Amino acid sequence: MTAVTYLDVWNLEVFFKGGSDSAELAAHLKVTKELIENFETKVHNWTPLNKTEDKVYLKELLSDFELAGKKLRQAAAFVGCLQAQNTEDKKAYALEATVTGLSAVFQSALSAFDNLLSSINDEVWAQVLEDEYLKELTFSLTERRERAKEKLSIEEESLISALGVDGYHSWGQLYDLIVSKIKVPVEENGEVKQLSVGQAANRFSSSNREVRKDVFKSWEKSWNEQADYLSKTLNHLSGFRLNVYKKRGWKDVLKEPLSINRMKKETLETMWAVISENKQPLVEYLNRKAKLLGLEKLSWFDLDAPYGKTESKVSYQEGAEFIEQNFALFGEKMAAFAKKAFENQWIEAEDRPGKAPGGFCTGFPESEESRIFMTYSGTPSNVSTLAHELGHGFHSYAMKGVHYLNRGYAMNVAETASTFAEMIVADAAVKNAKDEEEKLALLDDKIQRTVALLMNIHARFLFETRFYEERTRGPVSVDTLNNLMEEAQKEAYCEALDEYHPLFWASKLHFFITSVPFYNFPYTFGYLFSLGIYAQALEEGTGYEEKYISLLRDTASMSVEDLAAKHLQVDLVQKDFWEKAVKICIDDIDEFLQLTENK
Ligand SMILES: [Zn+2]
Repeated sequence: MTAVTYLDVWNLEVFFKGGSDSAELAAHLKVTKELIENFETKVHNWTPLNKTEDKVYLKELLSDFELAGKKLRQAAAFVGCLQAQNTEDKKAYALEATVTGLSAVFQSALSAFDNLLSSINDEVWAQVLEDEYLKELTFSLTERRERAKEKLSIEEESLISALGVDGYHSWGQLYDLIVSKIKVPVEENGEVKQLSVGQAANRFSSSNREVRKDVFKSWEKSWNEQADYLSKTLNHLSGFRLNVYKKRGWKDVLKEPLSINRMKKETLETMWAVISENKQPLVEYLNRKAKLLGLEKLSWFDLDAPYGKTESKVSYQEGAEFIEQNFALFGEKMAAFAKKAFENQWIEAEDRPGKAPGGFCTGFPESEESRIFMTYSGTPSNVSTLAHELGHGFHSYAMKGVHYLNRGYAMNVAETASTFAEMIVADAAVKNAKDEEEKLALLDDKIQRTVALLMNIHARFLFETRFYEERTRGPVSVDTLNNLMEEAQKEAYCEALDEYHPLFWASKLHFFITSVPFYNFPYTFGYLFSLGIYAQALEEGTGYEEKYISLLRDTASMSVEDLAAKHLQVDLVQKDFWEKAVKICIDDIDEFLQLTENK
């Protein structure tokens, strides 16, 4: 038995002493600013000669880029941690503004840099990449160059960015503003309470159906009252996006999201095809759940209803040891990584007021360390969250020594290591459940996640693709939006529900995010991609760890198709891999159906 007792508060002092008053941080920010300005100046002074000699200056620029980038990231991570650990820390907000300002300057220098890369002709470019140092960066540099080429001139793109501040992005902000004013009235103990949308959404996981039903009625009504404003917002936001695409000559609305996620359209189509072919078990699960709840069919507002009971509490120490033990079944390095994180206080888990909600893992590239944030209150799902965030940390750890330019992995692979780690622990928890009730609750929790990723996200994707199609022909009315959404939901849920949520286009923030287009399919991709790897790991045992680490190291320096071919020996355009991944989800459902057969 380990004699070490783990502390549940993190250590940030090793980075900068003194929190938001830190003199060390102030000095660091000053240096970061100088480095960014230096990079900016050098970029502006560069005129590529279109000769192989260009590589000399390019290498110098890249080394400056890495230096400035790491410093900025180190500061941003620290400031993010300060804000999360104490939401009242006003100085941390001022520091955030400083970091955001530096980041904007850095980004615009990078756009100029990318544009210069695209001005080098193909022949010279090929010669430049033969350089020993640059060879390793071929994918990242070529990607930057290609993306710049596909855009308009630097002047036009700058104008679009500038207009986007009060155009495109402000529509996204207007959405947030409208939503912040929405109240959802519900009656509780004879008294009408005005809930915020966040509070109302939480009521959908109530075990009392009347509560869920009442909230839903009021929920749809409240969104409907704002529907005119929200549809106008969505129409202008998407109109702006489509106009930019048109000017750039981009015909397919999926071009940008696919490129950001470094994947082919065929891969996406295969993934959805396999999901669609395997919906039957999910439908059976929904039907069974309806029966267990005494219903004919489930309604939209029943989807998050809990089933079964878990009252067991797991202390932080027990949770940590459970994670270490189960990680060890998959590999030494993962277990050792978790142990190091617990021992060296990389995790802020204390349950106390004044912390931000949610959880995250953030990397400090200069120190090659991560920090994890969450609030641990001892529920089984807290243990899963902890494992999830440790998975993110392990991803960074696996990338140790990888060039800074090769570390920017996209959203669709960002959740690979976290889902993998979470699966290990969630499966172990189901196996170790103390009775059937607990086992069912844990299984149901896992399956709900599958339903969300394979059905709910599918509906979002179907809706969004059809909506953008419709929008190219002109503004889309509230009625059409509602119809498109309800149709998409019926299709994605195979008509298994009794009532749907037509105003979901309004209530789901993700359709209004301007920084990332199509904020949906990468979730499903990431989940199934990770499960496919998990399936291979289960087959191959602990020897799999080295392979797994080399896959993680490559997550930001190749397309997902190449990544899968190189490390998993599979073709993502073919169905096999996806079928194996979906099978894992179906196994859970089968177990659930068996256990509830006679209930
Ligand atoms: Zn995550």
